[in-house]
Amino acid sequence: MRPADKFLVFGSPLIGEEEIAEVVATLRSGWLGTGPRTARFEAAFAAYKGVPHAAGVNSCTAALHLCLLASGVGPGDEVITTPLTFCATVNAIIHAGATPVLADVDPRTMNLDPAAVACRITPRTRALVPVHFAGRPCDMDALMALAGKHGLKVIEDCAHAIEAETGGRKVGTIGDFGCFSFYVTKNVVTGEGGMALARRAEDLARIKVLALHGLSQDAWKRFSDDGFRHYLVTAAGFKYNMMDLQAAIGLHQLARVEASWERRRTLWARYDEALADLPVTRPAPQKAGTRHARHLYTLLIDHTRAGMDRDTFLQRMHARGIGTGVHYMSLPEHPYYRETYGWKPEDSPHAMRLGRQTVSLPLSAKLTDGDAADVIEAIRVSLKV
Ligand SMILES: *Cc1c(COP(=O)(O)O)cnc(C)c1O
Repeated sequence: MRPADKFLVFGSPLIGEEEIAEVVATLRSGWLGTGPRTARFEAAFAAYKGVPHAAGVNSCTAALHLCLLASGVGPGDEVITTPLTFCATVNAIIHAGATPVLADVDPRTMNLDPAAVACRITPRTRALVPVHFAGRPCDMDALMALAGKHGLKVIEDCAHAIEAETGGRKVGTIGDFGCFSFYVTKNVVTGEGGMALARRAEDLARIKVLALHGLSQDAWKRFSDDGFRHYLVTAAGFKYNMMDLQAAIGLHQLARVEASWERRRTLWARYDEALADLPVTRPAPQKAGTRHARHLYTLLIDHTRAGMDRDTFLQRMHARGIGTGVHYMSLPEHPYYRETYGWKPEDSPHAMRLGRQTVSLPLSAKLTDGDAADVIEAIRVSLKV
């Protein structure tokens, strides 16, 4: 068992000396806000995804909100998404003025089931927001076919899935928009931070303007040595811009994105092998022709098989010094959505069951082999096998 002062914090990121030095250099440069490092990080991210441009923002939530606005979604429109996601996905739809509509997930992949989506499309549907859950790419062929048939915009929530690909295409570049998170627990971190991609250059330009108060483009340059320029307010925008302090971390995190992914893949394989004989359900195997981003390793704790419920299991893990996560209780479990939209967990039965059984194991690239051994031992002891 881990000593009391060695609690394994779920999702604690791997921060290198490069990030620390770059943050210090940024502080010393005196340019803390949106500036040259943000521009470099945007260019590096765009290059990683193989697209011409990207827009750095202060969260994935902000990216989702701006992409929905840029796609023209507004009051009276319906936007279909998954019940098995972080609340930010659906809150962004609400803040865009639209009505969120849930379609259930596939019980094995935990991703939006295109057949369930098809059943939820009405004449008011304007957009789909698929979430590449845990890093596993959604069935984008089926979702894009539905979108094409019904004239819908597709905004990919790629908060778990920077490295994911399907059919040789990188997620976030398949739909009309892609949104990424650099929150502390994600695959690439900047503390808080996010990135938006848009297929059409004019949509990306719109996102950039809306992210900085609606000021005419590149207003941050007004204080640079290029010489003073007046800015003009062209829209009632938001305060969603990324800071150079964030980009300083992101630049070096992104440089290691593949190495970190390799480390998580190794940990994943280790868990898969070590947990094979236990009365729990492991993640579905990766589908051929796809690349899984390995963000969350989720176990399902079914009372009838494991002899205990999920919450008992995670309390036992906690008592043995292992932090775990729950991704996620299905959205209709939360009072706001029940009261406002009349959602019931039973209406999305797969997401309801998954949300009550799922537990995420530590999978950060920071984990040592010893940490992984501790996690595995804690699981075996917690399940008493
Ligand atoms: C983390 C997360 C978000 C929100 O990301 P932030 O950068 O924290 O705003 C949105 N969707 C999903 C699926 C997430 O996991």
